[in-house]
Amino acid sequence: MDPISPLEQALHAARALVLADLVAGQVAEPDVVSLVEESVAQRRWWVEQWPEGAEFVAGLVAQDVQDALLERYGRWPLCPVCGSGDPHALDVEPELGPDPHWVCGKAGVKVAAVGSLGTAGAGPRPS
Ligand SMILES: [Zn+2]
Repeated sequence: MDPISPLEQALHAARALVLADLVAGQVAEPDVVSLVEESVAQRRWWVEQWPEGAEFVAGLVAQDVQDALLERYGRWPLCPVCGSGDPHALDVEPELGPDPHWVCGKAGVKVAAVGSLGTAGAGPRPS
């Protein structure tokens, strides 16, 4: 078996994390999943040019998918922290860095790590 390169591992992990958050938000429909695939394909090229960026890929894919969903679907992921006021989306922080988190810019709180929205009250919890 070929060993999986660190780049491929990072891309696989990013894909899995963002898909987990989409599932948590109940938006993991086939056309949405293809947005993730598109982003991962583009980021594969990007990270091949800049291997040091491998640990930034999850945050970047999350932002790519967020942008793509905003055009086709609407805001995602909606903030589960603020119970009142206008529904608003969470932001990824850091925008370019390791260990990305979803944060609410309004309340100024970290909501969940990218990939862990399902445990932050943003969707149905698996029993
Ligand atoms: Zn909020």
